[in-house]
Amino acid sequence: MHINDAVFLEDLCPKFRLRQWRKSIHRFTGKSCIYCGKPSESIDHVLPRSQGGLSTTENCVPACLSCNGDKSDENALFWYRRQKFYDPRRAMAIRAWLDGDLRLAIRLLQWANPNIKKTNKKYEKDESEYKAA
Ligand SMILES: [Zn+2]
Repeated sequence: MHINDAVFLEDLCPKFRLRQWRKSIHRFTGKSCIYCGKPSESIDHVLPRSQGGLSTTENCVPACLSCNGDKSDENALFWYRRQKFYDPRRAMAIRAWLDGDLRLAIRLLQWANPNIKKTNKKYEKDESEYKAA
């Protein structure tokens, strides 16, 4: 498929684009929660939508349902610091992600979780169940 066709298809189908975007967010971390490393089942708005947070890649991180629900409307970095699974490398990764430096964020996450590639394939099948929260 030509690259221009792909753009055209995405413009025609916003839902398709949204699904691709969610998939790519999860793929960045090997489908693991950016906070605790468990399988990511949802997308968390770092700055909550209720506070004007946008659905952009910089503001949306893969998160498990437990972290997503527990964090709720709190500032992600303050909330994260209080967690038992707090890891300074992940905190740096979250900050890099918010800055839009995904490459650095992913490198920090891989450093925090060397198994990131192993978990990658396991959850490939239930992508349709992911939803933004
Ligand atoms: Zn989590």
